[in-house]
Amino acid sequence: MPPEPFFAGAGIDRADALRNRPEAVAALLASPEARAILWADGIPALDSAGALTWGEVTGNEPLFLGLDHGNPRFAALPGSAAGAGARAILGQLDPTDAPLFAAALSLSSWHLRHGFCSVCGSPSDMFRGGWARRCPSCGGEHYPRVDPVVIMLATFEDRLLLGRQPIYPPGRYSALAGFVEPGETIEAAVARELHEEAGIKVTDVCYFASQPWPFPSSLMIGCTANATGDALVIDHDELDDARWFTRDEVAAALSGDPTAPFLAPPRFAIARTLLDHWIGDA
Ligand SMILES: [Zn+2]
Repeated sequence: MPPEPFFAGAGIDRADALRNRPEAVAALLASPEARAILWADGIPALDSAGALTWGEVTGNEPLFLGLDHGNPRFAALPGSAAGAGARAILGQLDPTDAPLFAAALSLSSWHLRHGFCSVCGSPSDMFRGGWARRCPSCGGEHYPRVDPVVIMLATFEDRLLLGRQPIYPPGRYSALAGFVEPGETIEAAVARELHEEAGIKVTDVCYFASQPWPFPSSLMIGCTANATGDALVIDHDELDDARWFTRDEVAAALSGDPTAPFLAPPRFAIARTLLDHWIGDA
């Protein structure tokens, strides 16, 4: 079996039916079993084993995350948004807690950034246990955003296209990626991004797997595609470089071989899952 994406765990029962019942959420809030995520610098704090940490529920309007084996779980809004170094903590995060980490971080980030109605500009209020906001002035309802991003492996004659973004650490190559635009299918976004960034045309776009990426609200949609040729025209505004790699080269990078021609993406990136899958397909 190919590996699952890092954020693919079951998470907890989101208990959607309770969100529209403020009295039920209030009762859960008063429960002795209620706990809230502890924050550090705008990010859920982790213990030494990489698990989320929990404390007494504080704050006026904590977000209702759901029920963990029947026990209510909340998150108060952190005092500040996550800093630029937030992704670094993923290397320590226990994958079991990854879905809840993503939900708490994305949802809280959305509230911190969307305190005002996007229709009329008035301050808005939280409702549905923190899974929506409503404007008292115009009645507009606003829901937490999820931003779809395609991330894809294109192959040509058993070689794989990977690229380098300027922000990557030295030696790192990974799958090309880009936001899905309004009016676009996943398949069209994959083909457009590969053509824009690397100058290739593709066929047979296939969905493989997805995972949330809570910085702040992306959903990474992992795909594969077949290139119709291997001539590259690299967009150097987006990428430092893009290259075709052989199966042996990718296998060496994934095994951490110091002589490999590139440094593989970390295990919490879905690009890593896609690469592991491609090698497992051999
Ligand atoms: Zn409004």
